[in-house]
Amino acid sequence: MGFWGETWQTARAVAWAMTITLKNLFRKPVTVHYPDVVRPYPDRLRGILALAYNETGEEACIGCRLCEYVCPPQVIKVEMLKGEKRNYAKTFTLELYACEFCELCVQVCPTDAIIMLKTFDLATSDRRELLLDKDRLHALGQQFQPSWATGNKLREMQRPPKAAKAEAAE
Ligand code: SF4
Ligand code: SF4
Repeated sequence: MGFWGETWQTARAVAWAMTITLKNLFRKPVTVHYPDVVRPYPDRLRGILALAYNETGEEACIGCRLCEYVCPPQVIKVEMLKGEKRNYAKTFTLELYACEFCELCVQVCPTDAIIMLKTFDLATSDRRELLLDKDRLHALGQQFQPSWATGNKLREMQRPPKAAKAEAAE
């Protein structure tokens, strides 16, 4: 390609790039000024983990350690505290920085104690802030809206329909 051919090609490329730039200059931005402006999260969002209280206001966790056993990256550690009427978690820690958000811990929890929240608003540059103890996990549960998906609801959804169960029994 000769000199004029190359010059023409470069001019065309620059004109095209400038057209794109001009078009975008007057376009409404697609970004928002987070955290001053927070976009509503989708209804089914399942974000960071927390511990919940039950309907009587007691800690829902009975320290059974099922979540600890099922967790693939083993980021949950629970110590059980035996009580007269029920058991509790003496200590409960969750290393959120290594969590895979697989939700298995929520699915196995018999008392809906460990839940996911409708937020992932816990970004930090300090990993130590993501080592969550029992108090912090309860505080997060109070601070943010819980996700719809509790262990009992998820297990109910996975159960075979009643008609299928009756047929299997015949
Ligand atoms: S979501 Fe998965 S990886 Fe995270 S704590 Fe629960 S079981 Fe472990
Ligand atoms: S959060 Fe649920 S599964 Fe984990 S120890 Fe407590 S009661 Fe058991």
